[in-house]
Amino acid sequence: MKTLILGGTREARELAHIASGERGFDIVSSLAGRVRDPLLPEGAVRVGGFGGAEGLRKWLVANAIEIVIDATHPFAGTISANAAIATTSLTLPLLHVRRPGWSEGPGDKWIRVPDLDAAAATVAGMGDRVFLTIGRQGVGAFAGLTEPWFLIRAIDPPDGALPPRHELLLARGPFALADESRLLALHRIDVLVTKGSGGDQTDAKLLAARAVGIPVVVIERPALPADAIVVETVPEAWEWLRARARTRG
Ligand code: NAP
Repeated sequence: MKTLILGGTREARELAHIASGERGFDIVSSLAGRVRDPLLPEGAVRVGGFGGAEGLRKWLVANAIEIVIDATHPFAGTISANAAIATTSLTLPLLHVRRPGWSEGPGDKWIRVPDLDAAAATVAGMGDRVFLTIGRQGVGAFAGLTEPWFLIRAIDPPDGALPPRHELLLARGPFALADESRLLALHRIDVLVTKGSGGDQTDAKLLAARAVGIPVVVIERPALPADAIVVETVPEAWEWLRARARTRG
């Protein structure tokens, strides 16, 4: 079964790893090409945008794709929406893999905001030293904040405007609790900003912030289409894919 996995996540790599080894599955993974040195999934990989929903629709037809798994990051809302439009127009099955979000525990001081602009507006009055852990995209939303100092962590350097007072920390998770705690103390961080990405690769910063009572601005995920079929884990996605293959005969 010719399957496209929209990737860029650990879940997508894990699913490609499982399915590539199975008879009857022909898997191609797709990456946006954002990261300079990406972790590549097993099997066939294509890189770069498709050219919107219409470009994706054409690509699916040209490559005889029968099924699409959207295992992109919970904040990659555009490609998820495009996948829904393209597969609906071709009546192809589409599954979204969305890891569960993080939830607030005792001692947490979270402020949930709907988007990056709201995060920037919120952070403006919250302290002098901000730890920005939203990846390289979207840092521009904070560029107009001239007062606070920012520790900006990303895998690759962000493009475009940055807040004038900042230090760039290039690093790829997973991050350990002891290291996150050290970082908060070393830079005398007052407030942490994060996307509500979920998962266990980058949640140590939340535990470190909880331990010292630092407030966290949590940006909410973009919504998936109302009728989306969604699973939370790779085993569930694999089960769904196999069931589809069985139905197909
Ligand atoms: P996005 O805002 O939803 O997508 C923007 C455009 O990038 C899409 O319209 C599409 O271009 C292209 N694109 C995105 N994902 C693609 C994929 N897997 N294969 C081919 N083209 C893709 O996405 P994003 O937030 O920029 O994320 C880009 C990639 O990084 C995704 O693969 C995502 O899983 C990964 N990622 C994102 C984050 C995050 O915080 N956003 C974090 C970790 C990993 P066209 O319209 O030209 O097709």
